[in-house]
Amino acid sequence: MRYPQPFIDDLKRQADIVRVVQDYVELKKKGQNWMACCPFHKEKTPSFSVSPHKEIFYCFGCHKGGNVFSFVMEIERVAFPEAIKIVADKVGMPLPQMIEDPRFAALRRESDDVIQLNSWALEWWQQQLTSSSEGRLARDYLSQREINDETRQTFQLGYAPDSWEALSSYLRAKGATQLQVDRSGLVVKKDEGGSYDRFRGRLMFPVMDAQGKPIAFGGRTLKNEDAKYINSPETAAYIKGRNLFGLNLTRDEIRRQGFAILVEGFLDLIVPYQFGVRNIAASLGTALTADQVKLLNRFARKVVVNYDGDRAGIQAAKKSIELLLAEDLEVKVLVLPDDADPDEYIRKFGVTEYQQQRVQAKPHIQFVIENALRDRSLNRPADKAEAVEEVLPYIRAVNSRLQKREYFDMAMNALQITDVSLRRELWQTMRSPVAAQAGEASKRVLRRSDVKPTVAERQLLELLLSDQQVRHEMLSRLEKPDYEFLATGIIFQAVVDLDAEGKEPDLDGLTEKLVDDVEAKELVPALLIGETQWEEGDNAPSFKVLAERCLDALRLVNIDRRIRELNAEIASAERVGDETKMVELISEYSGLNQRRRSFEPQSQV
Ligand SMILES: [Zn+2]
Repeated sequence: MRYPQPFIDDLKRQADIVRVVQDYVELKKKGQNWMACCPFHKEKTPSFSVSPHKEIFYCFGCHKGGNVFSFVMEIERVAFPEAIKIVADKVGMPLPQMIEDPRFAALRRESDDVIQLNSWALEWWQQQLTSSSEGRLARDYLSQREINDETRQTFQLGYAPDSWEALSSYLRAKGATQLQVDRSGLVVKKDEGGSYDRFRGRLMFPVMDAQGKPIAFGGRTLKNEDAKYINSPETAAYIKGRNLFGLNLTRDEIRRQGFAILVEGFLDLIVPYQFGVRNIAASLGTALTADQVKLLNRFARKVVVNYDGDRAGIQAAKKSIELLLAEDLEVKVLVLPDDADPDEYIRKFGVTEYQQQRVQAKPHIQFVIENALRDRSLNRPADKAEAVEEVLPYIRAVNSRLQKREYFDMAMNALQITDVSLRRELWQTMRSPVAAQAGEASKRVLRRSDVKPTVAERQLLELLLSDQQVRHEMLSRLEKPDYEFLATGIIFQAVVDLDAEGKEPDLDGLTEKLVDDVEAKELVPALLIGETQWEEGDNAPSFKVLAERCLDALRLVNIDRRIRELNAEIASAERVGDETKMVELISEYSGLNQRRRSFEPQSQV
């Protein structure tokens, strides 16, 4: 059913947008337009404007805008036909008969049917949860998770009994036809005909639409089945990736606070909600979709992504960041200590502790950089190139040029890209919204790579490889931190490994160990031959003394490298106002400086 288009056009002409908006917001005339503080986001100076001339409203702060109908839909949170009714009432135009739209009518009827059956199922499952003896399993699970009765009722949780047909029988007894049952998604059709209940022996979480009607379900196993969660398939009422779990309950709070916390699963939302964190929405296990981001964007311009801290969670968070940035949302990432999920963290440490963590959520770029640096060394050109390649897409996705530049500079500093012309080249590739060819950035970095083995590490390696005596003595003193960040760190590791295996560090042995690292492999013959001209004669220092000097020099290089890193880390902690981190870093810094002063290499090599 819909209103005839000529009526809608007429109503739009008749409705004075300023008068309609003024019913909700106090407007002040400014030039041709009317201005006010925006009703859709928190602000102190007006950026919400209405143009009677163009018959539109627009907010320069949160970028919401549209015509008189979209304004009413947004502020009254109603669907289009309802907005028509409200505007017609304000204008005093009588409503015409609605007309049947055959294209939508059938689909609408089928969707209404699904929702009707879902509501019946939900009612029944709720009863099963509270009063059936089998439901004890689910009740125990909820109390284990500290979910109280009020929360259970708010989220209308239920229990689906462990039966192949109990629900379908119930639905048919309520008057549903077999066709309706089959189309509801509540049963699974068998190949040989007939069907059985989809959800059996599971705790049921209903997914509601904006009006609070159940459009789909997720069911959690209570018997440790392989499929921890199973979900409704798509039906006439439900398209995957269009809804956010909990949003029907949390959208007002999200709008009020100006930001949303985005979590993954049902319990990641329900438990924080119970503890008072109510500006929250869940992407429902599946990866976040562009539709979900658009939906969220209607309520807040800022998002804190709070996924699990495990590998899969971090991958999912990174995917979400790109989608959120594409819609111009400001993104922070919260990774809880010990990779905890929000549910377990809040139950263990309480909501105050959780909010404290949340305040310290990292800007998306910092999160992405830290991940790119994990398990990589900036002293190895290949690692550095890969890290740059990994970070740049998250800068390219930012729309605001000013923000983009700021993030770019942060990334270049953190990744220690100091070469000015390389920076300029990389910035050029940032300006086009289209992603550069994969590997393009890393090639540029590698071409200009200024990380070369130092004299000390080359000489130490030559000595290790040429003299068995020196090798045995030095390897017992050499520690992983001495070499792991060196350009040749991987070669040192190969020598250490071969020695542990009781093998000679000859060309074959080393080449085999370095199979994946072309640069390192190419260096091996030169190291084995030995390019250094050592001093000769009676007064010349022994190989052992020379090797010790090299090691001292390396340790000094490492201290200097860490000091340089700390400078960057302190600056970044200062920028985000993380004082605990700053104190920690500064203390490490002064410790290192002291060590550096007390460090007296026997002689510089
Ligand atoms: Zn606004």
